Amino acid sequence: MADFSSLGLSDWLVKQCKQLGVNKPTPVQENCIPAILEGRDCMGCAKTGSGKTAAFVLPVVQKLSEDPYGIFCLVLTPTRELAYQIAEQFRVLGKPLGLRDCIVVGGMDMVSQAIELSNQPHVVVSTPGRLADHIRSSNTFSMRKIQFLILDEADRLLEQGCTDFTKDLETILGTLPAKRQTLLFSATLTDTLHELKNIAMNRPFFWESTSETRTVEELDQRYVLTPEKVKDAYLVHLIQKFTDEHDDWSIMIFTNTCKNCQILTMMLREFNFQTISLHSMMKQKQRFANLAKFKASVFKILIATDVAARGLDIPTVQVVINHNTPGLPKIYIHRVGRTARAGRHGVSITLVTQYDIHLVQSIEELIQTKLKEYPVVEKEVLKILTQVNVTRRQCEIKLESTDFDEKKEINKRKQLILEGKDPDLEAKRKAELEKIQSQKKKFKQRIQETIQQQQRVQLKKKLTKRKQMKNKKAAQKTA
Ligand code: AMP
Repeated sequence: MADFSSLGLSDWLVKQCKQLGVNKPTPVQENCIPAILEGRDCMGCAKTGSGKTAAFVLPVVQKLSEDPYGIFCLVLTPTRELAYQIAEQFRVLGKPLGLRDCIVVGGMDMVSQAIELSNQPHVVVSTPGRLADHIRSSNTFSMRKIQFLILDEADRLLEQGCTDFTKDLETILGTLPAKRQTLLFSATLTDTLHELKNIAMNRPFFWESTSETRTVEELDQRYVLTPEKVKDAYLVHLIQKFTDEHDDWSIMIFTNTCKNCQILTMMLREFNFQTISLHSMMKQKQRFANLAKFKASVFKILIATDVAARGLDIPTVQVVINHNTPGLPKIYIHRVGRTARAGRHGVSITLVTQYDIHLVQSIEELIQTKLKEYPVVEKEVLKILTQVNVTRRQCEIKLESTDFDEKKEINKRKQLILEGKDPDLEAKRKAELEKIQSQKKKFKQRIQETIQQQQRVQLKKKLTKRKQMKNKKAAQKTA
């Protein structure tokens, strides 16, 4: 295996890596760093936790040391927390250079960001929305001379998910020079490869880890089959088990909505688990503070929505619990990638209800791995079922008495107005869609019930026939 010097990095940078305990390059680093140093565009697709960030930070810092100026490099990433994490790696590895970075994300003071931008930092790390706002509202900084554009979690930036970055990206790309190096990284790049190729034009070097599986071997991937109504009791049981057995373990729990995240946090606190949450309905400062407390192990349990699914690197996380089975298999890959990072071991447990079986099948297809059942003593879960469900209901009532839903509604309306949409029209459309979905769900449920009933009737018939045969044989014997 190569070492960092043979990849073309200077001695001072190799020394800096060693000080961080980074001695040998990981495969994504070994393959991508030389191509980037050669001046090529690069697309790197490697499993979560395999050192993607350093694969682009190291060559950029190397090139910056040869010709330092600002603004030299722009990194775009989908979440605010990731922007801070990436900026930290630039700061640490570029320390001997006196590298200056600037973080431009939503939810933070725009004026101080504008001042920092006008001071020509070497590296800007940003979420697309806020940077596009700065570009639209001021001309005190220029990115006309940047040498590197990096899209981290590139597939998320380019897909049209719940947050659509397309317009903001267009605004940003319009201010960048055509002659630049573009680097694209993600654990799930291949799904959006065609769009990505349009952005990276300069003889792109494409590297993908050769392994057939999309998750790491060190990750023990499990599932627990549970009826919807018993799910929370399973969650409490699992947390109790892990905290009893390992007092130094941190647990990350993913759930589907901000409200659920809030309710589960309240509920677990009622059971005396030190729990903290992270979701997009929280103030940004609170989000950073909670993440910092979790990273420092002040709180051992973090409940989050998918805003924390990608990229976050927290070495103490030993367990990831999916409170809901992710609807998209690639979200599963990112969520479980919060543990078993950088060669460490970890466990993921997905709570699967009767309605999620097909989701598990598509996850298994994508990751090319079968999830194994996690053994749980059902009797133990049933013992706490009533207490858990009552506590949850109490927490729901408590939350309803706050203005949580109202705040959510206001935030949504603001977002729609910013996107140039009519909130009332959108609400009408959403209501219609929900009606159709609920009808579909009921229809599916009815079909399932009919199938189960038919199976029961057939089984009953079989048993009666068997009994009759037995009786007949016995009668024949006695005759
Ligand atoms: P990333 O995939 O960039 O989030 O990195 C995951 C973790 O691996 C981080 O904690 C890095 O500090 C660590 N890391 C990155 N490169 C290496 C390396 N070559 N050897 C050991 N650890 C590394």
